Amino acid sequence: MVKPFVPQLVYFEPKAMGYPLGKTLYDKFSKMDVEIRETTSHNQVRNLPGDNDFQKYRVAKSTLVVGLRKTLKFDTSKPSAEYAIPFATGCMGHCHYCYLQTTMGSKPYIRTYVNTEEIFDAAEAYMAERAPEITRFEASCTSDIVGIDHLTHTLKDAIEYFGRSEHGLLRFVTKFAHIDHLLDADHQGRTRFRFSINADYVIKYFEPGTSRLKERLEAAAKIAEADYPLGFIIAPIYLHEGWREGYLTMLEHVAQVLPPKAKENLTFELIQHRFTKPAKKVIQKNYPMSKLELDESKRKTKWGRYGIWKYVYTDQEQEEMKELFLTTIPKLFPKAEVEYFT
Ligand code: SF4
Repeated sequence: MVKPFVPQLVYFEPKAMGYPLGKTLYDKFSKMDVEIRETTSHNQVRNLPGDNDFQKYRVAKSTLVVGLRKTLKFDTSKPSAEYAIPFATGCMGHCHYCYLQTTMGSKPYIRTYVNTEEIFDAAEAYMAERAPEITRFEASCTSDIVGIDHLTHTLKDAIEYFGRSEHGLLRFVTKFAHIDHLLDADHQGRTRFRFSINADYVIKYFEPGTSRLKERLEAAAKIAEADYPLGFIIAPIYLHEGWREGYLTMLEHVAQVLPPKAKENLTFELIQHRFTKPAKKVIQKNYPMSKLELDESKRKTKWGRYGIWKYVYTDQEQEEMKELFLTTIPKLFPKAEVEYFT
């Protein structure tokens, strides 16, 4: 069982101490056996311990930087939401295929932002611009926010903030099961709580440092009992020997362990595995022993929105995946909605 994350090293931007959450976190880490350092900017953490890049990468993944979010211009977040809301960047998980491998580049440490009121104000402006249309905010575009929330409670505040909002909805996804502190948040049904799930093979070989499927599903059941709208993201859908049985077993397992209530308001999002050339380079450097299949010649190219080619599965393979999921999900979860396959 993966324990709730505790950083080995924490950096503070001096300005973070001017915010209540900054002070709370400083007091919290001062009482724990955690080394605290100062940094002028969360973008410029240097001198992380470690003799080589491999070690530094691992130290960075267990380093937390407490700072301010300066850019309050939100990125778009299609297809799951209108905007990405930035409460944190980085993750302590070690999923080999993770999209953060490339987006975080040389800064794989975890950053949490304490100027949450300013982030909420920015969200308010985005909502006002689109009102009376509903605006959906995705809180896990740049991190697995649940994985650090037992320390910060930022997400809990956000859930309650959107619970009070008229035109906003919140959503996020996690591979962590440490959700108990979120059960009593006053969400008003305006947050969709999603868990990322996968076949045993994928979790076993490619998702070290995250909660196991059994734990994620136990957490999902609790979330549904707490009346949150629930969702599952099956990502990345990864072709491997026995993949059909693997995903079928996973879906049957989910159907078996979820309480009936959890199946009332349930969504699925389906995302096939993809990679880019820069991602491949980073993955091979950080996880040299990984079994992750990254052979461009077996894939089809797709132009990505960041101006770079992505390697996805061939049309026929995509059809086979869709067929499996789009026939099995309605059978096992008749009331669920499949939001998209991409
Ligand atoms: Fe990346 Fe999510 Fe894994 Fe964290 S849990 S390493 S964000 S894929």
